[in-house]
Amino acid sequence: MTAPGNPSPYPLGLRLAVRRVVVVGGGAVATRRVPALLDAGADVLLVAPELTPALRAHVDAGRLHWEPRRFVPADLDGAWLVQVAVDDRAAAAAVSAAATERRIFCVRADDRTAATAWTPAVTRHGPVTVAVLGGGDPHRAKATRDAIRTLLDARQGSPQPLSPPPGAPVDARPGRVALVGAGPGDPELITVKGWRLLTEADVVVADRLVPGLLLDELRSDVELVDASKIPYGPSRTQEEINRILVDRALAGAFVVRLKGGDPYVFGRGGEELLACAAAGVPVTVVPGVTSSIAAPAVAGVPVTHRGVAHEFTVVSGHLAPDHPDSLVSWPALAALRGTLVILMGLKNLSAITATLIAYGRDPATPAAVVQEGTTSGQRSLRSTLHAVAADVTAAGMRPPAIVVVGDAVTALDPPSG
Ligand code: SAH
Repeated sequence: MTAPGNPSPYPLGLRLAVRRVVVVGGGAVATRRVPALLDAGADVLLVAPELTPALRAHVDAGRLHWEPRRFVPADLDGAWLVQVAVDDRAAAAAVSAAATERRIFCVRADDRTAATAWTPAVTRHGPVTVAVLGGGDPHRAKATRDAIRTLLDARQGSPQPLSPPPGAPVDARPGRVALVGAGPGDPELITVKGWRLLTEADVVVADRLVPGLLLDELRSDVELVDASKIPYGPSRTQEEINRILVDRALAGAFVVRLKGGDPYVFGRGGEELLACAAAGVPVTVVPGVTSSIAAPAVAGVPVTHRGVAHEFTVVSGHLAPDHPDSLVSWPALAALRGTLVILMGLKNLSAITATLIAYGRDPATPAAVVQEGTTSGQRSLRSTLHAVAADVTAAGMRPPAIVVVGDAVTALDPPSG
């Protein structure tokens, strides 16, 4: 709506890369505004006698220039835009006057009616930026922005895929692969970026450990390849997965390779990256929340704790300690004082714990086992290094499970006595 004398603003996307933007003020408002300016590549000059610690960190990292004093009109020389982030009306008005004289747009945190430009409420979704102006009411702008963000986040309302709809002629756009960590099991523990790419995929190649609920919500036209159903042994299966990723991408599809936890923690993500690279297929890696940290956490075990554990080590227990192919130095692990997180270790657990004890780790060291952490099937038990293998058998625990050894296991327990 346009009222006479109060025309609606004209929206623009400013391309600020290497353009001078002056921010006047070093408090909370400037702290909130500066990151987006830096993100846009602006050459930021900050003028303020004092800075918040967050702004100081930008200065120390060399991301912007700081003039530690009050504003003078010459600060605007060469600037394209100025943001006034001071409470002092008179000081703000002086910046406005200097900006108007130089025909530089001026955003004012203290007085929107005196401003010549308004900052919208923003939400970003990959390449898409949504900016909302509330007709002079910042609360309305934020509420509208939040509603749009919810819509874009909503599984049904995800942005249109960047790829052609089914049946459309495949354009010259080359395909690509994203190696996406799906998180440890709870479907809400995928990252925002991972979820967005999943909603954009033409083909999804999923692991056994990937939360089923994530797959339930894929668009019906997405081709879903269940990697756990590919026959052959472990190495042939991996070759087959690599071939599927490369073939689909070379045919122009956007392929999401969805892997439990983090793609590079015992996930063979590196092999898939190399296979794609060898075929000239571009790959993006989206890290995930790894079960090696998340499963202990949800069972009450912090992998580090001040004064208790200053290190944590994640190892695979899929090979017995005396296996000729084992790359793990069990004597070195037994000598550590910190937290030991063992993945894929149930089958060899008695050999592993006996080896750690034989090389000197205290048999009374607390241990915990977490099965299907972060899922509705989560189970866990507490024990000691000495007893844990027998306790796991007695409790009938099965993979996927994680074993944690170290004093961190009991660090959060209430003091006994
Ligand atoms: N890339 C994965 C790990 C793959 S190896 C990650 O970063 O989490 C598979 C092993 O991970 C399983 O044998 C088990 O030891 C562990 N694991 C995966 N998900 C788990 C979960 N939700 N709870 C407990 N252990 C889990």
